[in-house]
Amino acid sequence: MGLPKFEYLEPKSLKEATKALLSTSRAVLLAGGTDLLVNMKHRVVDPDLVIDLKAISKLDDISFGKEGLRIGACTSLHDLASFPAVREFYPALSQAAEEVGAYSHQVMGTLGGNLCQGNRCRFYNQSVFWRSVRPICYKAGGKICHVVRKPGECHSTYCGDLAPVLIAMEARIALIGPEGERIVPLRKLYTGNGKSPLSLKRGEILREVMVPPPTGKTIYLKWRLREAIEFPTVGLALSLQLDGKERVKKARIVFTAVEPAPVEAREAEKALQGNPLAQIPTDKIGAQAAKEISPMRTSTVSPAYKRKMAGILLKEAIETIG
Ligand SMILES: Cc1cc2nc3c(=O)[nH]c(=O)nc-3n(C[C@H](O)[C@H](O)[C@H](O)COP(=O)(O)OP(=O)(O)OC[C@H]3O[C@@H](n4cnc5c(N)ncnc54)[C@H](O)[C@@H]3O)c2cc1C
Ligand code: SF4
Repeated sequence: MGLPKFEYLEPKSLKEATKALLSTSRAVLLAGGTDLLVNMKHRVVDPDLVIDLKAISKLDDISFGKEGLRIGACTSLHDLASFPAVREFYPALSQAAEEVGAYSHQVMGTLGGNLCQGNRCRFYNQSVFWRSVRPICYKAGGKICHVVRKPGECHSTYCGDLAPVLIAMEARIALIGPEGERIVPLRKLYTGNGKSPLSLKRGEILREVMVPPPTGKTIYLKWRLREAIEFPTVGLALSLQLDGKERVKKARIVFTAVEPAPVEAREAEKALQGNPLAQIPTDKIGAQAAKEISPMRTSTVSPAYKRKMAGILLKEAIETIG
């Protein structure tokens, strides 16, 4: 499988990159390429212009201070995971980065690419030959969906490991575009629509991720079918803030690999509030969270299995976070 033909540009500034993005409707951004190049080889992404972000200075800066952590979008997952302040104060983030794919994906892959990676579906992330035995699906430009059998819907799934952790930590992102910069909570990056899963406006680029100073504890649990080089079957980030009496003051429960966007189990979060950590009814809270997600058959495992694993992961997370 070779790459299709395309023009290649290596801008030296974000302004130049934004301008290039607007120059053609089929332009794409390239960071580490570990997601994009595979999709290009499969011809599910077919750009006429590839804009490489890696020559832009300061996009891979990472720093920690009074206001928390600032991570440039082109910071590699390996640099993120091994940054001393991340290891010390945000261990769940470091762990999630170290669980992405294989070591080579972590060295090449960037945080921006991880957050903006394409949604996945077993009928879509395949070679042209594999896909040729069925009619082209809605996301690939056709009319029907092989998962929901309804026209005009795509439930391809967001499978990134870092977004749930960063959303649980209430991270914000800086987006730079033709109209300047805007800062939004990371959770707002995701639309929940499998066909166009990101809310980036035309010409916009993710510049930086900002994580508030650490408060409470966060844990990330990844369930996958094999130990290495594997996307999550279900991933869960749990973040808890406790009061002086070890009661839950605030909870964030965020799942990945279950819907077109990372999804927060809000009712389960509410049910956790006020409970002493040692007395949480973990089975009940796990079952509640499992009801709040709507996985579809976009991977080789069934939605029922994903729901069950989501509940089990949450139960395990609550029992081990202390
Ligand atoms: C075999 C295999 C296993 C994998 N396993 C995992 C896994 O376990 N967990 C996981 O999370 N991922 C996994 N991945 C996906 C991928 O390797 C990682 O998500 C990686 O972090 C992507 O980063 P990248 O820099 O290589 O992205 P790229 O491939 O360069 O880009 C990905 C997408 O993001 C867009 N993009 C990149 N940077 C920006 C930016 N700054 N602003 C706006 N858009 C941007 C690109 O246009 C592209 O659409 C796997 C991939 C493979 C091939
Ligand atoms: S969910 Fe349907 S439309 Fe979306 S990628 Fe899968 S088959 Fe295609």
